Amino acid sequence: MMPPAVGERPTRIRVDLANLAFNLRSIRAHVGVPVMAIVKANAYGHGLVPVALHLQAQGVEQLGVAFVEEGIALRQAGVNVPILVLGGIFGPQVAQFITHDLEITVSSLDKLRQVEAAAGQLGRKAVIHLKIDTGMERIGVHSYSSRAFIEAAVASPWCELKGIYSHLACADDPASAMTQQQLERFLEACGHIERIGAPMPLRHLANSGGVLHFPGTWLDMVRPGILLYGVQPDPASQCTVDVRPVMSLASQVVYFKVVKAGNPVSYGATWTPERDTRVVTVPIGYGDGYPRALSSRGSVLIRGRRYPIVGRVCMDQFMVDIGQDSAWNEDEVVLIGAQGTERITAEELAQRAGTIPYEILVGLNERIPREYHGR
Ligand SMILES: *Cc1c(COP(=O)(O)O)cnc(C)c1O
Repeated sequence: MMPPAVGERPTRIRVDLANLAFNLRSIRAHVGVPVMAIVKANAYGHGLVPVALHLQAQGVEQLGVAFVEEGIALRQAGVNVPILVLGGIFGPQVAQFITHDLEITVSSLDKLRQVEAAAGQLGRKAVIHLKIDTGMERIGVHSYSSRAFIEAAVASPWCELKGIYSHLACADDPASAMTQQQLERFLEACGHIERIGAPMPLRHLANSGGVLHFPGTWLDMVRPGILLYGVQPDPASQCTVDVRPVMSLASQVVYFKVVKAGNPVSYGATWTPERDTRVVTVPIGYGDGYPRALSSRGSVLIRGRRYPIVGRVCMDQFMVDIGQDSAWNEDEVVLIGAQGTERITAEELAQRAGTIPYEILVGLNERIPREYHGR
């Protein structure tokens, strides 16, 4: 890792853009259809704008974000590939979508009318994707009552119907029967477009789990998020696509001491050494999004060896027991990533913290500087 600039904290997220490009190529080769790269939530913690610009340079067909603000930030940064906003829309926001050339998820007949009204007022067509609910029960028109909705969208003079999509609820589990059922419901809804003789828009359904485990869901485009960042949606299932972790997270030892036997460490005095031991302090905590749930459960790498976090993770620091080994101030501490032959993955952190890798990645906040390497 590069030494920090003067005045910058030594804790940093390193984003490997070469691995990001590798993962995009790998997913593309696997599915053989265009990719909508999902960059919501600060590109899963990797940095919205730099990640999007790099994906654009790699020729990604489309980007997906959750909220209109994310799409506007991308446009303002000079991203010019098509961007779909995946979230539900509010009527007053629609004009913003159109003026920033953002594609709109239309998830009900009411919302279709709101989009038409705003587009008509601006005198500019809105580009829309219809959202069909096939079993997630989040947003979208139920597949079993989507005919009138589809007909209205096809007939709309102010909407260009670019896509139709749905979202999978259980795709990270290859054994779940839910995905096949959702696919059937989705294709049935799409079939109505054919029946009324309208041109078929882009049909897209697969998230990372779909990409990994359900080829039938790939259709005309796939929407991978976490897999693009080299992380498994469900670490328990087998990975069928060759991807590499894009993020690593490291800090430096800021303090060294000996803790005498019987003296507890950190808030709540929850951990006490049975014999004298060496303890180092690492300057990152839950205020950065490093989970407090890793108190006495997580581990870190120092000098190529794995050591346990002891006691509670604080807001800005935590302690590590290095036993009788040595470590010096400013030694590198790896929290996610490799050091020597050891590696700590986001998947491992999630498992130890009792959560999913998504929450680990997106939780790491803007207090941690990000540096970008490779191309
Ligand atoms: C977040 C999201 C995705 C990407 O999900 P991953 O599991 O990260 O691949 C795809 N589609 C929609 C609608 C989403 O909200």
